[in-house]
Amino acid sequence: MKITEHLSASKDKTLFSFEILPPLKGQNIQSIFDGIDPLMEFKPPFIDVTYHREEYVYIERAKGLLEKRVVRKRPGTVGICAAIQSKYKVDAVPHILCGGFSKEDTENFLIDLDFLGIKNVMALRGDAVKSEIYFTPDPQGHNYANELVEQISAMNRGQFLDEALENGHHTDFCAGVAGYPEKHMEAPSLEKDIQRLKTKIEAGAEYVVTQMFFDNQKFFEFEKSCRESGITVPIIPGLKPIATKKQLTLIPHRFHVDMPNDLTREVEKCKNNEEVHQVGIEWCIEQSKELVAAGIPVLHYYSMGKSSNIKAIASQVF
Ligand code: FAD
Repeated sequence: MKITEHLSASKDKTLFSFEILPPLKGQNIQSIFDGIDPLMEFKPPFIDVTYHREEYVYIERAKGLLEKRVVRKRPGTVGICAAIQSKYKVDAVPHILCGGFSKEDTENFLIDLDFLGIKNVMALRGDAVKSEIYFTPDPQGHNYANELVEQISAMNRGQFLDEALENGHHTDFCAGVAGYPEKHMEAPSLEKDIQRLKTKIEAGAEYVVTQMFFDNQKFFEFEKSCRESGITVPIIPGLKPIATKKQLTLIPHRFHVDMPNDLTREVEKCKNNEEVHQVGIEWCIEQSKELVAAGIPVLHYYSMGKSSNIKAIASQVF
């Protein structure tokens, strides 16, 4: 089923969903199932699987002679989605990026998803790879996520790059896109970022999942601004429980989001990461309960493959 159909079917009940990362290369798919199994009792209608781009590493072949090698540390997004749909009978939502994909690669990726009966995709631009300062698109690829959504919409209309495919067949994807309650780091202002979010919706995206936030007020204000700017699709909040002291600096640095003073104070008081884990759970329960009370249709948790804190939260909220 499409995410939009799940939302319509849920009526007034808030649904539970979460995101996982493919395991590092060399690990077993069982690690994925071990992360999902404890969360199935909360009946997620969909599970997102992130996509990870190539990275560049330099290997010293001889003294002073470096060889540039391309590595992908977490491949397997499509295969994991197929395995999830087959094992758990829930919809898997693969993430797909502009970065590293030509338009033809994108078409082929989406055709694979179509063969596998995957109905939903999360369309993203992706970040700069480690060796770049700014995001650089593939020379034959898309610059921004709205262009990727346009390609998905064209395929849904039966328009393919490979003319041999234009035989009446069309795909039927429901595309989600990212939204940033505290603005995307490269956007000149939140207002401009919301205008660009609207462009993604106009290109055909049917729902939005937000970047993590730790202050619900930021989400409520963002949602209000989106509605005022004419965005009518569902906006799904993304939540992440903080789990280590290091994340107090790492999360703002990596994701450009603020940590509320009260949360920072509570984490700083902790003597070890076990205590931080508990503070993170309690904070996220409070956030979740307030969002449920506000009638938000789905809460989406960034599990990062660790289910114990998400289970502790879900058992208090759902
Ligand atoms: P876009 O919507 O293209 O926006 C990127 C920036 O460009 C913004 O500042 C925007 O304001 C600006 N912009 C947009 N359109 C235009 C335009 N036409 N002209 C000028 N400026 C424009 N990354 C991964 O690598 N893998 C994942 O699986 C992944 N999953 C994610 C899931 C969620 C829910 C979120 C919130 C993020 C995820 N990311 C993932 C990170 C994401 O790739 C980065 O945040 C990336 O920097 C932006 O992606 P986007 O799709 O929001 O980009």
